[in-house]
Amino acid sequence: MKPIYMSCSHRIFHCSCTPSFLLKPIHSKIKKMEHKFDSEAVIQEFESLTKDAKRVQLETLKKILKENGEAEYLKKWNLNGKFDPQTYSSCVPLVTHKDLEPYIQKIADGASYPVLTGKPITTITLSSGTTQGKPKFVPFNDELTETTMQIYRTSFAFRNREFPIGNGKALSFIFGSKQFTTKGGLLAGTATTNVYRSAQFKKTMQAMQTPSCSPDEVIFAPDFHQSLYCHLLCGLIFREEIQVISSTFAHSLVHSFRTFELVWSELCSDIRTGVLSAKITVPSIRTAMAKVLAPNPDLADEIQKKCLGLTDWTGLIPEMFPNCKYIYAIMTGSMEPYLKKLRVYAGGVRLLSADYGSSEGWIGANVNPDLPPEMTSFTVLPNIGYFEFLPLTESNEVDSVGPEPIGLTDVQLDEEYEVVVTNVAGLYRYRLGDVVKVIGFHNSTPKLQFVCRRNLMLTINIDKNTEKDLQLSVETAAKLLADEKLEVLDFTSHVDLTTDPAHYVIFWEVSGEASDAVLKECCNCLDKSFVDAGYVSSRKVNAIGRLELRVLRKGTFQKILDHYVGLGSALSQFKTPRCVGPSNRKVLQILCNNVVKSYVSNTFG
Ligand code: AMP
Repeated sequence: MKPIYMSCSHRIFHCSCTPSFLLKPIHSKIKKMEHKFDSEAVIQEFESLTKDAKRVQLETLKKILKENGEAEYLKKWNLNGKFDPQTYSSCVPLVTHKDLEPYIQKIADGASYPVLTGKPITTITLSSGTTQGKPKFVPFNDELTETTMQIYRTSFAFRNREFPIGNGKALSFIFGSKQFTTKGGLLAGTATTNVYRSAQFKKTMQAMQTPSCSPDEVIFAPDFHQSLYCHLLCGLIFREEIQVISSTFAHSLVHSFRTFELVWSELCSDIRTGVLSAKITVPSIRTAMAKVLAPNPDLADEIQKKCLGLTDWTGLIPEMFPNCKYIYAIMTGSMEPYLKKLRVYAGGVRLLSADYGSSEGWIGANVNPDLPPEMTSFTVLPNIGYFEFLPLTESNEVDSVGPEPIGLTDVQLDEEYEVVVTNVAGLYRYRLGDVVKVIGFHNSTPKLQFVCRRNLMLTINIDKNTEKDLQLSVETAAKLLADEKLEVLDFTSHVDLTTDPAHYVIFWEVSGEASDAVLKECCNCLDKSFVDAGYVSSRKVNAIGRLELRVLRKGTFQKILDHYVGLGSALSQFKTPRCVGPSNRKVLQILCNNVVKSYVSNTFG
């Protein structure tokens, strides 16, 4: 396989109008980076790409269309050898996953001709599927891995300039999902699994001086509970060396440290005796852990003392990992509700929010790591795909016909758009379903803030409440629990159309027993906190029924997580679905079967 740094830069610096003086120094610098990470070379590459974003986008589109011109899908749209954006957007339609599903299925079934891409697709990615309730198949190839590494390197270069780390290890809560073979013999797994398994990932992590402290057998264990336990154990064994604590999404960090609260004394006992807990039954993990675990009573004593000395686990991370420079994960969008808890564990350790991407490919890097997670934006890398932006219309239907999408460099400041992706792995004008806001520009490429999933919406009639509205409402109501020293561990919602009028249902899992009076107050507060005019007016005239708060048995969200992992999703990629539709029957059933108390609002009389 080609060295990744060469191939990424190749695309940019080999175009005819690039002055040759630009090629030499960057290529030689980049070659060196394979061994040692050179932040300045990466930043220099990023600067030149973003200064020339329009041309880079044209080149990227041309390259994608040229390389895949023989594919059945592209031939169908008669581009007649034209690669310009106007021809492309007038010939090729905007699509959603549903439109491409038959093509992806043909690939998964082993089609022997080019379906979506010129070169055969050999791997299928399973998106986390938290939105629709079941994982989606998405084509994956080596070029997507390369773009992932480019994003990792770019944000790391900026991060490292601001917050340098020395040689050390990362406690990375990463988990491979189950992989399986499709009917046509293609390997299928989550995007994170496909990336973690790639040789490029290891090389890049090595160059960035942050290899995971856990052996591969722990990352790719068939049982994520065992995998998580061993990640924690490895973290403690190498506690002095840990420079960074990370996961893909912040949810796994919170989940991991909540687990730590429950298993810390067992971890100490393993360290004291050098004998791995009997609950770890996977032979490959036991063999791998035997190489890192040795009796160390002093370390066990120290950890025990520190755990006993903590109040409500505040500052757990700096106590356990004294050299940890920062905590790194995606903390935006549906991850924001976990920030509060994460800050408790983090004590004073800085939280840095990671990049923006999806199973369908990466979009932008966080190049301003000094900003707090709530202010994170993502600078689009113009060579990792061809991007279009669909202006938002009043209609919230994903398949509504609205204005035409515009190009990457044509977006307007402060406007919101849905992202449309054309990627290097066979997706053409693919509506990602994410809403972003342009909050500025880096050279000529936009900086985007994640707003919400477009179709994640609580709506009954004229009301429209997004994931963000739900989050704000939950945050406000959850403050009422603080007096009882309780917190909302996780939450989701549902529109109950079986009642007349229909109404919103909010599900909460709470950390302990709250009194009926407080929960009743929380329920009223939730109802009041949806301030959308359509909702308020509908509630006043009873066109929307009283909001219902249903309190769940402890462990319900764990059951939901287990359900998704059972479907092939990985803990690394898990996002709690914030709105569960009627078609997501299994999750709805888990929720409804675990309700212990329910309250009905009387906010509007
Ligand atoms: P997946 O289906 O597992 O590939 O998840 C991809 C989705 O996760 C994206 O389409 C976004 O909705 C969400 N996502 C990814 N990165 C971020 C981010 N940095 N901030 C907010 N949401 C994100």
